[in-house]
Amino acid sequence: MKAVAGLITFLFLSQLSAFAQGPRGFAIRDVRLFDGVQTSEHRTVLVENGKIVRVGNNSMRLEAATATIKGTGMTLLPGLIDSHVHVGTPVRDALRDALTFGVTTELDMFTNADRLKEMKAIAAEDPPDVADVRSAGIGATVPGGHPTEMGGPQIPTISEPGEAQAFVDARIAEGSDYIKIIHDGRGGLPDTSVELMKALIDAAHKRSKLAVVHVSSEKAAREAVTAGADGLVHVVSGNEASSDFGHFVARRRVFVVPTMVTIYWACGKSTGPEVAKDPQIEPFLSGQQKKALATPSSESGCSVASDQALQELIGESATILAGTDAPVPGTAYGASLHEELGLYVHLGMASEQALAAATSVPARVFGLKDRGVIKPGMRADLLLVQGDPTTEIQATRNIVAIWKRGVRFERKRAAE
Ligand SMILES: [Zn+2]
Repeated sequence: MKAVAGLITFLFLSQLSAFAQGPRGFAIRDVRLFDGVQTSEHRTVLVENGKIVRVGNNSMRLEAATATIKGTGMTLLPGLIDSHVHVGTPVRDALRDALTFGVTTELDMFTNADRLKEMKAIAAEDPPDVADVRSAGIGATVPGGHPTEMGGPQIPTISEPGEAQAFVDARIAEGSDYIKIIHDGRGGLPDTSVELMKALIDAAHKRSKLAVVHVSSEKAAREAVTAGADGLVHVVSGNEASSDFGHFVARRRVFVVPTMVTIYWACGKSTGPEVAKDPQIEPFLSGQQKKALATPSSESGCSVASDQALQELIGESATILAGTDAPVPGTAYGASLHEELGLYVHLGMASEQALAAATSVPARVFGLKDRGVIKPGMRADLLLVQGDPTTEIQATRNIVAIWKRGVRFERKRAAE
């Protein structure tokens, strides 16, 4: 009897606390809203059950029980998307590091079959304390081609155009969300022929998958664009870019993921040490992230073409998706995306455009229809920052709150 009474009391109390928290929703009031495309002032955004249910002005009526966050002086953005990473192990830790800096979705651009399986399992569960993830799975490269020189588990490779459809179908069966192809162009390592790359692109398109191509040289980039690639997942590097490169890419509506932080590291001017010192970033970096950011650059003096090519692409209003290639040395999940956006603005992109490159644009390009913009029906993947990143891009680092699917993520300081 006593036990039953205790149970009833417990149920009653837990009901009470549920009411005290209000219905599972909350609202952010009087906030500057960058909705993924444009900016408006004094907005109110209501979130319920993990989704954005209403966006209005400050006179929007709310139920008395709705928890309210005052957003005066702050900016609300869609959770950020990093369009080029390689999710490391433990997978959950890598995805949590990203979320710690407001990156709610990671697009992995080459992994092995086991790690892909792990990522798919986490994405299916979609827990609120790690970033969501999509992956290319195993990329297409020839025997001895990049990135096999970096060691790691054995991966299947491809040699002949006639094998392309079987290769692509095997990747799709493993769970690849899009198809990544290596066509580097730097020389030194075996590389896919133009014919093989084209066969792989066609095979991906036959299955309605995006085909994205890793390139280094401008020649390789032009070959990929001509072969029908949907996107280039690095901007070109080298000593010089042709003055019509941006026009060439933009006219064919091919998107580009610049990965400037990685190209800068490879060219002897890593931004990593600066990122690691930033007082808004440093407290949230793990020891491993700090070490990666501090890794000295390995080469020097080869990045002129990258700046030039990106400036041209910006000038031509090409489709640009923000991506870092983390965890290449000199970069860290989440943290480096803020630096990447800063570099775009430094090279002439409008701040709003840079924010779109990390929100609505990748969501549209990669068919992530439930995110990237703040409007009713979308997932409540949200980033609240102090200040105005639509005019001062550095403000993305001044994080006040992060939500994934409407659940607030508690950022941990590394020392805690
Ligand atoms: Zn990469």
